[in-house]
Amino acid sequence: MEKNTSSSSSSSSSSAAAHVLIICFPGQGHVTPMLSLAKLLSFSGVFTTFVNTESIHRRLSSSSDLTDRRRLRFRTVPDPLTGGVDEELGFSSKFINLQESMRSCSTEPYKKLLLTEELTGEWPPVTCVIADGILFYAIEVAGEVGIPTLVFRTSSLSSSWAYASLRTFMDQGIIPFPEKCDMDEIVKGVEGMEGILRRRDLPGFMKMVKSTEDNYIKIINGINSLLINGKALIFNSFDALDPTLLPIMSSYYPPIFTIGPLHLLTKFFNISNEKEQEQEKEPGKNSCSSSLRQEDHACMTWLDNQPDKSVVYVTFGTVAVMSLEQFTEFWHGLVNSGHRFLWAMREDMVKGKEEMEVTEELEEGTKERGCMVEWVPQEEVLAHRAVGCFLTHSGWNSTLEGMVAGVPMICFPYFSDQMVNSRFVSEVWRIGLDMKDTCDRNTVERMVREAMEGESALELRNSAARMADLARKSVEKNGTSCANFERLVSYIKSTALTGSS
Ligand code: UDP
Repeated sequence: MEKNTSSSSSSSSSSAAAHVLIICFPGQGHVTPMLSLAKLLSFSGVFTTFVNTESIHRRLSSSSDLTDRRRLRFRTVPDPLTGGVDEELGFSSKFINLQESMRSCSTEPYKKLLLTEELTGEWPPVTCVIADGILFYAIEVAGEVGIPTLVFRTSSLSSSWAYASLRTFMDQGIIPFPEKCDMDEIVKGVEGMEGILRRRDLPGFMKMVKSTEDNYIKIINGINSLLINGKALIFNSFDALDPTLLPIMSSYYPPIFTIGPLHLLTKFFNISNEKEQEQEKEPGKNSCSSSLRQEDHACMTWLDNQPDKSVVYVTFGTVAVMSLEQFTEFWHGLVNSGHRFLWAMREDMVKGKEEMEVTEELEEGTKERGCMVEWVPQEEVLAHRAVGCFLTHSGWNSTLEGMVAGVPMICFPYFSDQMVNSRFVSEVWRIGLDMKDTCDRNTVERMVREAMEGESALELRNSAARMADLARKSVEKNGTSCANFERLVSYIKSTALTGSS
């Protein structure tokens, strides 16, 4: 990769009417931060069109107020066709099919939105696009019609940087993994990450590469190239998290705006924009919610009845699926730890769950100390005084939410960026434990005890509290994320004047 020499300063603070179109990959982990950004930009005076697929829009509308506002409107593109996708296909083929399907059914409707054929009132034409960093067609089409595009990567800086090192790993013969290899061997040659990543910590798609012709290589190369295609890069992260990586990445990529944690920045701005928000809110709906599922609020009452820092909050996110065996081991480990637990478990999370025989030991232990529901208001749960640690799959949103709440994490990552996130949680930020690749009941019990009891728990809690403080400071007035967001707004406004920046 070539180093760049351009500066990341904004070129104008003009208040000309800028109109940004934000387009998002159809998934919870993408909708949440991108919708936060849409709200923040519209509150900052930028006309903002938020584009999602029809089905995501429908699901979102049931909890969130999606009526058009003065400077924020919601539009859709058709859902990708999933019919015809062979269930036996590997994930890589499914991902490629999904991208192709989105390209074929959404390109024309998306072009119409870009060229704003149906604009009314004071809405100016689209002057700039913020596209999800894994939405190939969206970035390409915006380029074709000549609209400046900023790329939003919804995962961590460290995982993006690890993906960007594919060539290095292939040249060194690390990828594909040889048949017999030491998964604990430290991989070398990644600038800024020396001594940190082991083979087992490499991003999930990399670990799945079987040959040099593999589909995963095409996917990783594709995603890597999108990062250098835009005018700028946006990350839901904050400078204090990656003080080593950020300057290194900035020397290779277009200007980087780290504006996270976005859910915290949104709160900070909402406080100052309370009046405006109240005026715009449709009664009875939550203007901030980005949840695609029905939240179970009864679990909050259960939490209210538990002592301080006594509960392990468990969830594995929106897409991870575990085997019956893994589920059984986790459940036993939690019950055997003797600690209370709140487990948010999607109905489709465990393969073959209906075949499980629940032992008396599990039943009793859960009745005494556990609460199992399908979906919780996670930010609220993590902020609850009763929660003592977070057993997580290390999705990037969950990781940031855990950090902001100052809750130590136990990480059991499934795929992609989660592998790198969990390593950083344990080895770099030291705010949790990485359980990666093993989840037998003894390991689960041991890690829960380590995160909940004695000196080890105290140490983790202290560093988690320090991290929460850094996160909070970054979004406050003069904090780095707040300042970067303001620079981003100026940058976007400048596109109204120049057509590019
Ligand atoms: N989440 C939630 N309730 C739950 C479980 C998860 O609201 O019961 C939210 C969580 O707050 C986070 C998102 O779902 O914002 C999951 O995103 P993440 O990037 O962590 O994981 P992924 O979507 O990749 O599984």
